Amino acid sequence: MNLQQSKTELYSILNSLKRAHLKHGPASAALRRDRLLRAVQLLSENRIALTAAIAADFGHRSAYQTLLADVMSSIGALKFAAEHVEQWMQAEVVDAPAEGMQTWIQQQPLGVVGIISPWNFPLNLAFGPLAGIFAAGNTAMLKPSELTPHTSELLAELVARYFEPHELVVVLGDAEVGQAFSALPFDHLVFTGSSTVGKHIMRAAAENLVPVTLELGGKSPVVIAADADIQQAAQRIMTVKTFNAGQICVSPDYVLIPDAQVDGFITAAQQFISESFPKVQHNDDYTSIISSRHYERLLALLSDARSKGAEIISLAPADEPDFDANTRKIAPHLILNVTDEMLIMQEEIFGPLLPVKTYQKFEETIDYINAHPRPLAAYYFGQDQAKQQHFATHTTSGALVINDVMTHASIDTLPFGGVGASGMGAYHGIHGFRRFTHAKAVVLQSMDGASNLRLRAPYEQKQATLTALFHN
Ligand code: NAD
Repeated sequence: MNLQQSKTELYSILNSLKRAHLKHGPASAALRRDRLLRAVQLLSENRIALTAAIAADFGHRSAYQTLLADVMSSIGALKFAAEHVEQWMQAEVVDAPAEGMQTWIQQQPLGVVGIISPWNFPLNLAFGPLAGIFAAGNTAMLKPSELTPHTSELLAELVARYFEPHELVVVLGDAEVGQAFSALPFDHLVFTGSSTVGKHIMRAAAENLVPVTLELGGKSPVVIAADADIQQAAQRIMTVKTFNAGQICVSPDYVLIPDAQVDGFITAAQQFISESFPKVQHNDDYTSIISSRHYERLLALLSDARSKGAEIISLAPADEPDFDANTRKIAPHLILNVTDEMLIMQEEIFGPLLPVKTYQKFEETIDYINAHPRPLAAYYFGQDQAKQQHFATHTTSGALVINDVMTHASIDTLPFGGVGASGMGAYHGIHGFRRFTHAKAVVLQSMDGASNLRLRAPYEQKQATLTALFHN
């Protein structure tokens, strides 16, 4: 399909969804719940096939990681929305300024929402937004990633089985189809992916004044304060840095640590990895890098850092290679003596490589973070509450987790999203419902229409009354 063909075809799919949305009117609470629970059913009944498809796409993907972070987390978000949707969609009565007048906020569906999703959690990042989209009474078109072809094709097939074509449609294709997709006049477009592509999306959406939610990436820092429990910090950081082999938008990207603690951190990380992953290459718990291109990019980051003076510590088991092109598995690595001239301190890493940068004075950490684009998440390890508070108020990030990493992403009551270069607009739980809802102001005028009378000419007497107010 060429670009023009895909544009015409996509346009006609969107039009039929829009027409159906207008014809059927706003979805009732029962229909919204039904859609949410059908998505749950789709995931639950096909979890084995979906897990196999993701594994085929990754080369190897830990089945546990897929069940937990793609299947269960999506089911959790959809069920949470199904439980609360009736309460969320109630009109909110607000104080009216005049007697006899009534004022409320009507929660109105936006219409048809476009979703462009990435490959790293192909179910979570499609069904997570859908939970808010369906709860808000919208219908949707989804374009999943071309880097997970087995999963995307299976999704298209399953969605066609579980949903009517006017409720949810999956469109398959690469970046070119993504380009055509992002140029459609949706009622809202939610994009999860890289900051670079995010700029294209926003530009394309601007053409039709389509509002966007951009869930982007970036470098999420971890600050270890002098009073942190180093062993606990190393364990919690490395747990997440190795989950999905670090291919997570909120993965800890680099660590800022006091000079005096760096040896303790290395020892704790080494010990922890050897216990969690006695084997890497032939271990079903350890996930592969998604493609050869991504694998090569990570190795290039390592060699660039080495050539510019970094010390690289491989945490591969003693009898194994550090990485293997056949399995596309890269063992965890720590990178010391890093500088901003190294690509690894410039690009989002998105793999199991962890730069560890030392500092002398605590304020250096805040200055460093504030001198770089605003991250999707920031992580702080340390016990002193005043210092935690200081860090929270002096840095800006999509989220902050204290004494752990990534924890916020699975808490349905918290908004999830970026700020600045890491994105705009948050979702999850009620925040997703609000994101994909139009909060419409509604006024029922009083019988006497007092506020209208106030605007009515002649003004002479009214102006005198107003002017008198300033002389008191
Ligand atoms: P990507 O930006 O390369 O691709 C994402 C999607 O956009 C894919 O479906 C792709 O086909 C489509 N696309 C590519 N070029 C396009 C174009 N010019 N116009 C329209 N669509 C286009 O991202 P990726 O490699 O799939 O995912 C990794 C990135 O996603 C990382 O930066 C990561 O941090 C980010 N991410 C963010 C979140 C979050 O919630 N904030 C979650 C997961 C991943």
